[in-house]
Amino acid sequence: MKFGGTSVGMTTGLSQVLSIVLYEHERWTNLILVVSALEGVTDALIEAAHLAQLNNQRGYRRIVATLRTRHLALIEHLPLGSTEKTALQTDLDRLLYDLLGTCQTVAEHHDDALRPEVADKIVHVGERLAARIVAALLRQNNLRGVAIDATDLIITNNAYGNAIPDLALTRERIATHLLPLLQRGIIPVVTGYISSSVTGKPTTLGRGGSDYTASVLGVGSDAREVWVWTDVDGLMTADPREIDDARVIPTLSYDEAAELAYFGARILHPRMIHPLREQSIPLRVRNVYTPQQPGTLVRDKLASMLPAIRAVTSIQGLGMSTSHNGPLAPLAQTVDSMLADLTGSHTDVTITSQSSSHSFICFVIPTMAGPDALHSLQVALNQDEDLSAGWNTRPVQVVTVIGTRLGEIHTLTANVLLALEGIPLLALSQAPSHCSVSLVVETQYGETALTRIHNLILKNG
Ligand code: ASP
Ligand code: MG
Repeated sequence: MKFGGTSVGMTTGLSQVLSIVLYEHERWTNLILVVSALEGVTDALIEAAHLAQLNNQRGYRRIVATLRTRHLALIEHLPLGSTEKTALQTDLDRLLYDLLGTCQTVAEHHDDALRPEVADKIVHVGERLAARIVAALLRQNNLRGVAIDATDLIITNNAYGNAIPDLALTRERIATHLLPLLQRGIIPVVTGYISSSVTGKPTTLGRGGSDYTASVLGVGSDAREVWVWTDVDGLMTADPREIDDARVIPTLSYDEAAELAYFGARILHPRMIHPLREQSIPLRVRNVYTPQQPGTLVRDKLASMLPAIRAVTSIQGLGMSTSHNGPLAPLAQTVDSMLADLTGSHTDVTITSQSSSHSFICFVIPTMAGPDALHSLQVALNQDEDLSAGWNTRPVQVVTVIGTRLGEIHTLTANVLLALEGIPLLALSQAPSHCSVSLVVETQYGETALTRIHNLILKNG
């Protein structure tokens, strides 16, 4: 079971976490928990890493002091006994003291660019702080909670900032370090998002990576199910912050959930689905505040799933157009390596359309590249005169429709296109997974496109 930053960041969320664990502990023989850093903490730590690299001591110290106040205030309000509380405070202080040391070392060797390996080392602490708080809370309530650092368990390549786990090595680590704890009746509270390379260097699994941690631990421990507890009722027909009448989707196939996550639904890390699909481990997405609701179940595609549009999502993209035709591969390669240098994430999906006299290419900006990725990429591109010459570059919106059997039942896509009457489309592409179609529109049309497609979902649903 994975609990996100909004659940562990507040006392109300933590008391929900506790009651869920107490309840599920009675129903399951073994439970593994994954917790991510308190909401906003990873952003603050990335900022601290940046400041350390610029040798701005005052800046990173202020961030560390704010983090200390926030974590201590949180545990102050938790129902912990005085021994548990003092031990926890000492533990947190030691982690924060080490963090200051790391920032100082970085500051002494400062340079201008934020290197992802430096950020990775610094962001690790956010997850460690949170895991210790949750483990202490469990112990206070007679559960045998122990905080475990995923750096001992999840072994990755060295793509800092967005690493890929080596499932075979990770499985071995889980067998030696985690399963024995389960056999002793312990509930491991594992840090989300963080990992280490084969040589022991700190790495991270990309933003929102705690979901991926849960999936990798689930696969490596042959879990019966993986549950992601979040602050919405499940995977929804649209982002409820953008569409008021968005509804929960009761069941989705792995492919559909993966497309939904990839194309912008920030609830799940896009890469978490693949390992679960390989082992047919069901995934449940549920609301920590309404645990009586079933949420969304993600599992193998069933023949009984009727063809339908199930969800619409949108994600930022960088659109580049020019009034000539020619090979796009060199441009795609340069933009990809720029994004990888800036954020550790690759572009993954590009959507292109070309005619005799024009070319258009859109780079989808993955959510795990972090919130500033599009802006950083645009700045870098503008600085590269060779590359930007002749290209008109602007942010665009990639609106993706996810549905069952979209690849064969063409009336589904036809209805979507009819609903978008009057909205200029920059490009259109059906995914090879046959369960999604993406449309690229100017940012100003994004909201209208989403609303119209969502109305279609409600009408057919
Ligand atoms: N704390 C990490 C982040 O903010 C991982 C997560 O939240 O899942 O990206
Ligand atoms: Mg998340």
